[in-house]
Amino acid sequence: MEGNSKSRLVIYLPWKDFRLTDNPALFWAVDFSIKQNLPFLPIFTMDDGWAKTDVYNLGYPRRFALSRILSNFSRSFERFEVLVCEPEDLILELIKEFEIYVFLNDDVEPFAIRRHKKIQNLLQTQGNDQYFFRFKNELSVSADAKTQNGNLYSVFTPFKQAVWDEFLDSKVLPKVDLLKIRYYDQNLPVNFEKVKTDPQSLFNRLDQKWILKFAGQSINLDDWFERPNLENWIFDEKKALSQFDQFNQTHITKYNLFRDDLGVEGTSKMSMALAFGLVSARTLKDKILQVHQSPDQSKGVQTFLSELVWREFYRYILVHFPKVLNKEFQSKYQKLTWRKDQGGLIRFEKWIKSQTGYPLVDAAMNQIIKTGWMHNRTRMVVASILTKNLGVDWRWGQEFFRATLIDLDEASNNGGWQWSASVGADPKPIRIFNPYLQAKKYDSQNIYIQKWLPQNYNAKPIIEHTQARNEAISRYKLVSSL
Ligand SMILES: Cc1cc2nc3c(=O)[nH]c(=O)nc-3n(C[C@H](O)[C@H](O)[C@H](O)COP(=O)(O)OP(=O)(O)OC[C@H]3O[C@@H](n4cnc5c(N)ncnc54)[C@H](O)[C@@H]3O)c2cc1C
Repeated sequence: MEGNSKSRLVIYLPWKDFRLTDNPALFWAVDFSIKQNLPFLPIFTMDDGWAKTDVYNLGYPRRFALSRILSNFSRSFERFEVLVCEPEDLILELIKEFEIYVFLNDDVEPFAIRRHKKIQNLLQTQGNDQYFFRFKNELSVSADAKTQNGNLYSVFTPFKQAVWDEFLDSKVLPKVDLLKIRYYDQNLPVNFEKVKTDPQSLFNRLDQKWILKFAGQSINLDDWFERPNLENWIFDEKKALSQFDQFNQTHITKYNLFRDDLGVEGTSKMSMALAFGLVSARTLKDKILQVHQSPDQSKGVQTFLSELVWREFYRYILVHFPKVLNKEFQSKYQKLTWRKDQGGLIRFEKWIKSQTGYPLVDAAMNQIIKTGWMHNRTRMVVASILTKNLGVDWRWGQEFFRATLIDLDEASNNGGWQWSASVGADPKPIRIFNPYLQAKKYDSQNIYIQKWLPQNYNAKPIIEHTQARNEAISRYKLVSSL
């Protein structure tokens, strides 16, 4: 070991935790570097997924959002590096020169978990003088929650009952104080491309063709659509928190009444801030409890907290069953057949292009293309129609949402798709949404459809709903009885 001859460096690697409040890795990295009087450097590694086109469905909305978020976040620090490299390669380079202390937050996605393991192994194999610090963050409750029989939970309600108090008690770390930091002030001895942190430079480096990859095929969405205008989204922690404060003061107590109403803005619109980690679910929970001391007394508050626990549930499922990203949680449904022929492709394309002929579905698909976001009620409807009425594989829909949502969250997206296709955790009798009844019930004034249906719309249903429903019931029944 040559540890003593190397200089020491504390690095913090943000991934989707671009905030100063309740950020465990950042908080403890700063604390450690100040107490040990060690130089500190935050580094964002722009890996192949971000830096190249074809690796993964990271669509335009998320690329745009990251350019703005990263730029805002970087301004909190006197020095912040953005390097185009895989984090493993960065560590390999740095350990040649430094005794490094790596601080990062944990993750629930299998790819990220494997990556963290690699980084940890790299540091360990270099000797005892290298250190790796990973902090519990993505899941606010215990990943070890088990039923009385010692099994993992697979149904939401008992999971919620088990973790509810733990979630309400989960601790929020204070905003990190960056004033006393001693930043690393030399040139980093690595040869990776460096990106400036102004929004335009970041966007220029992140921008790629808007590709949708699915089942070995790819579609260039830039050929089909104008890119959405995303300027009105909030890409800054402070503003996201004040946006939530407003919702918390004025809307949350009526959340249960309006969250499904497509004609009003009845939800918090915090999903993008949560997905990129501009805010933590724990901070939102604390803010709620500060204003509404006893959540039991407000149905709206309870319902909102319960939605945050749904988010925890899908994270818990992904941690324990990483295969769900590609396979049905309920194994009996792995035998379901999907339309993968030319007819299936045409249906998928029509679904994407707002041409299914079901006005509510086509309006919602236009909403996602125009804004990078879709209401939860219509996410459920369009996913049900794609999988049940059109018989198209839920994995294709999952990929489309990956490419188009600004608030993409792997666990919630997968959970939402599997739930809507009736193949996931929290099994319920097979639900087939009727797009006309859904519109009548949740868009009774026709406000949403009028707002989002494309102009000159004249699509006829690809398949009549009752016929589609009967076909879906037989497909699912065939499999259930195997
Ligand atoms: C097919 C499908 C795909 C989805 N994909 C995503 C996704 O990629 N990213 C994502 O954040 N959510 C996803 N959801 C869940 C939900 O639609 C969004 O979280 C919600 O619409 C975001 O709007 P909001 O912030 O105004 O939500 P609010 O109603 O204000 O809820 C507050 C927060 O609670 C969480 N939440 C609410 N509903 C759910 C839910 N059903 N499941 C899990 N968490 C929930 C979200 O973090 C949300 O921001 C998906 C749902 C379906 C049916």
